[in-house]
Amino acid sequence: MRLKFKNDYSEKLRNILGDKKLTYIIDTMGCQMNENDSLKYMGILEDAGFSKTSDEKSANLILFNTCCVRENAENTLFGRLGKLKIRKQKEKNVYIVVVGCMSQQKHILDKIKKSYPFVDIILGTNSMYSFPQKLYERIVNNEKYKSFNEIDLDVIEEIPIVYDDKYKASVSIIYGCNNYCTYCIVPYVRGKERSRKLEDILEDVKTLAKKGYKEIMYIGQNVNSYGKDLEVKTNFAELLRETEKIEGIEIIRFISPHPKDFTDELIDTIANSRKIARQIHLPLQSGSTKILKLMNRKYTKEEYLNLAARISQRVKGVSFSTDIIVGFPGETDEDFEDTIDVVKKVKYDQIYMYIYSKRVGTAAEKLEDNTPYSKKVERLETLKKLNENIVGENNKLIVGKTFKVLVEGKSKTNEELYTGRTDTNKIVVFIANDEFTGKIVSVKITSEHLWFLKGEII
Ligand code: SF4
Repeated sequence: MRLKFKNDYSEKLRNILGDKKLTYIIDTMGCQMNENDSLKYMGILEDAGFSKTSDEKSANLILFNTCCVRENAENTLFGRLGKLKIRKQKEKNVYIVVVGCMSQQKHILDKIKKSYPFVDIILGTNSMYSFPQKLYERIVNNEKYKSFNEIDLDVIEEIPIVYDDKYKASVSIIYGCNNYCTYCIVPYVRGKERSRKLEDILEDVKTLAKKGYKEIMYIGQNVNSYGKDLEVKTNFAELLRETEKIEGIEIIRFISPHPKDFTDELIDTIANSRKIARQIHLPLQSGSTKILKLMNRKYTKEEYLNLAARISQRVKGVSFSTDIIVGFPGETDEDFEDTIDVVKKVKYDQIYMYIYSKRVGTAAEKLEDNTPYSKKVERLETLKKLNENIVGENNKLIVGKTFKVLVEGKSKTNEELYTGRTDTNKIVVFIANDEFTGKIVSVKITSEHLWFLKGEII
């Protein structure tokens, strides 16, 4: 169901806070979805009269937007909460809030209640809309709120959002995931797939275009599953085609698609588009059909390679990136060789690679894992070196070519240069001036380095 965000409690908070000038800071862990959620938490807090600070020591409200995809994120959160204990003892009116995927897990909630009882509010992944009310009740009535039970499966529209960039913005199009990959906790903590209505998404993008945004990134756990759950039938390819028509938007990106949902219609839509970036993140996870089956990924090595080949044939100059898990339970040297084989064939420009991390509550938790950790580290190193060699070779091939680039501003590492990304998502630096910032320019690549390129505006 589609519901509209209610801001009555934001208004009440504004009224009671008056000119107290309370500040907030948000610590975001994890993926693009979490980053986008944090922008909405910023929107809600600013709507309620809080203002942003970068100084945690003086912040009146500290919000942790958590991720539970990897184990070390839990240790990071507990370490951070531990450090806040003394401050909480001294300052009654500093509010600590924990939201995001971790807060949807019972063992985490139990641990916070037992070891960090000073936390004021814990909200699950789909309870963002109730944040103003919980905050009001905490500030006015001193009520603490800690519940992970609200997996509310409605889509809430019109949540205020504060973008931290003036020219590029991410837009959520689908929440949750139905895939149940055996290593992944997301379907348990974010619920089933719920697509936003096409018109709501397009309305958001039109508003962004009017404000001067040039680039949008559609985000979701499985973007190309978009529309399957909607009454009015549509799909991700149609959403992209409709977005292409919006004046002012010049670059369209998306993350992450699932290989099993990558249709020929979608490939054709990208191939025929003038605005969709020539960069596709195509999560592989493993190159071994045996391991892919254990992961419940629903494609084989051959099907994946066939898909990558079809995309390369249709979308000229496409660049691929991917995610790979090394050391999944049962992965043998032969299985790892299959992964290496796919990497050599697809020639990815970027690989987000991880050593398998067991997550409580997933199907893979019960799989026997006999591979020594040192062996997994060795495989990761092999993959890293191979990726660097491939990226080096790929980069040599693009020297002399010209790319459409959104000028993002001054380079953080060299104040004399400006920076942007090619539509294949490679960082490029070049000489420009402030007048170019926020504009789309053509940049010819003049030299290559491993993780960035140099170019000149032509
Ligand atoms: S597609 Fe698989 S890995 Fe991605 S969010 Fe869904 S269950 Fe997790």
